[in-house]
Amino acid sequence: MNPGEPASVENHRTERESGAIVYPVYSRRSEGLSIGINLFPNKKICSFDCPYCEVFPFETDIYFSLDVMERALIESIQHARKHNIPIRDICFSGNGEPTMSPYFQEALNRAVIIREQWAKEAALVLITNGTMLLHEQTYKYLVEAASGSKRLDIWLKVDAGTEAWYKCINRSEISFHDLTTKITQFAAKAPFTIQTMLCGIDEQVPSSEESSAWIDLITRLALIADKAFGVKSIQIYGKARPAPEDPRAQPLPCNILHERAEALRKALNENGLDNPINVYP
Ligand code: SF4
Repeated sequence: MNPGEPASVENHRTERESGAIVYPVYSRRSEGLSIGINLFPNKKICSFDCPYCEVFPFETDIYFSLDVMERALIESIQHARKHNIPIRDICFSGNGEPTMSPYFQEALNRAVIIREQWAKEAALVLITNGTMLLHEQTYKYLVEAASGSKRLDIWLKVDAGTEAWYKCINRSEISFHDLTTKITQFAAKAPFTIQTMLCGIDEQVPSSEESSAWIDLITRLALIADKAFGVKSIQIYGKARPAPEDPRAQPLPCNILHERAEALRKALNENGLDNPINVYP
């Protein structure tokens, strides 16, 4: 593949895991290009250990470089423009939790400048599990980046409403209480999109207590955010892609995802809210 040339959605994982720092992905669904930025080309680093995680074990001797990122990002944008491919977004995700990289803030600052110069129409997206909101300097940086002139779209993972399900689906040492408290504070300060994975783990499905607690949590976040910037949307995902721990995490029938969305919609409406909810089985 030539530098800057978009990969298909199907093969971008292999690219990331062979050390790509910038991996353009063409999406047929949105008929556009998403240019992924991977801050961990050498190995996965994450504060969660989700059983559904799609990052397969890998190791390379390629280290992240801001200059390489900058050059590859500009090349990808130029390639898309030359072929009249619309650029949907520039997206920080990759092999782990992007905000844990020491390069994260400088990489984002540089991506903002490149976006302004070359691809003003593109959204700038961060996919995050939110754990670095507990780090005060990162919290302030993300508030400013999402609410200020950087126009950062934050897609924040909220997979669980109870500590029990959080321990199952995210398997993190980080306190569920501390994390949700911090996300609640963040909701009063900056706009964001909520992402939730809904799947079975080890043949267990989320209990009715878990479903109610998740609906309460999301409604609370949406109410608090409504007084500031608002929750942009809630995305409910099903497990659709292979993961190294398969079959520990199992896809749930589509209707369960839609029922959860409907129950949330009802709770939001009862509170005078109508945030968009999207389901991706
Ligand atoms: S937060 Fe994302 S990268 Fe980290 S383990 Fe979960 S799915 Fe994988």
